[in-house]
Amino acid sequence: MLGFIKRIIKIQKNILNRTRNRLIPTAYILLYHRIADVKDDPLQLSVNPENFKNQLLYLKQKYNIVPLVQLVMWLRKGGLKDNSVAVTFDDGYADNLHNALPILKELNVPATIFITSGYISSNKHFYWDGNTRPEDRGRPLTHDELIELAKCNLIEIGAHTISHPRLSALPLPKQEEEINGSKKQIEKVLNYPQISLAYPFGDKESFDKNAIEIVKKSGFNYACSNIHERVTKNSNLYALPRFVVRNWNEERFKKEFNNFI
Ligand SMILES: [Zn+2]
Repeated sequence: MLGFIKRIIKIQKNILNRTRNRLIPTAYILLYHRIADVKDDPLQLSVNPENFKNQLLYLKQKYNIVPLVQLVMWLRKGGLKDNSVAVTFDDGYADNLHNALPILKELNVPATIFITSGYISSNKHFYWDGNTRPEDRGRPLTHDELIELAKCNLIEIGAHTISHPRLSALPLPKQEEEINGSKKQIEKVLNYPQISLAYPFGDKESFDKNAIEIVKKSGFNYACSNIHERVTKNSNLYALPRFVVRNWNEERFKKEFNNFI
């Protein structure tokens, strides 16, 4: 009986959501990490190239994929074009250049890539990949690869701190060093101002209003969180919500995304 009631409530919630979506323009920001075909992926950070391409092809049929900066411009003007999608990547894996970029170019899909600047050309694996089998680990971008990635006019580069800490656990001067420092390090490589940032981890507990203040003060124009929500005109430009994509085939992606929207 309880299960039945829960199902009815869920159906009603879906109907309400869909009705609301028709009334309020809504956009979605997708979050990827790696595009790679790996055997063992304990943190589920990789989407294989075939699934990635099929996910984008599906989105292209139904949605308007725009650069993140375009979504932000609409939000600043107080509006939003309905059914828009922006694609983002976190961390700065080399496979973003070698595996993702060719597909983005082929399908003419823009994307924003947030770089953990302390790992550029470091020859180290990202610390969270410590338990991943060495052959399944992705390496960070090198200095030259980052320049090559940024050359493509479909790509916006953004910052993701220097060492990928949980910002809320750090004293303010250290937060400032991580946020402002990553901006400076990337600008040194690319020679143009960095205007966007994604918070490491990005859940509500990982950053607070102090971090947002530092992000503003450092000269960033907008920032992404990992908060699992849709974008509406009321979304905070300094904590934009995102939808994390896993290694789903087209069918599963459709299901997960339709549950989300
Ligand atoms: Zn990250």
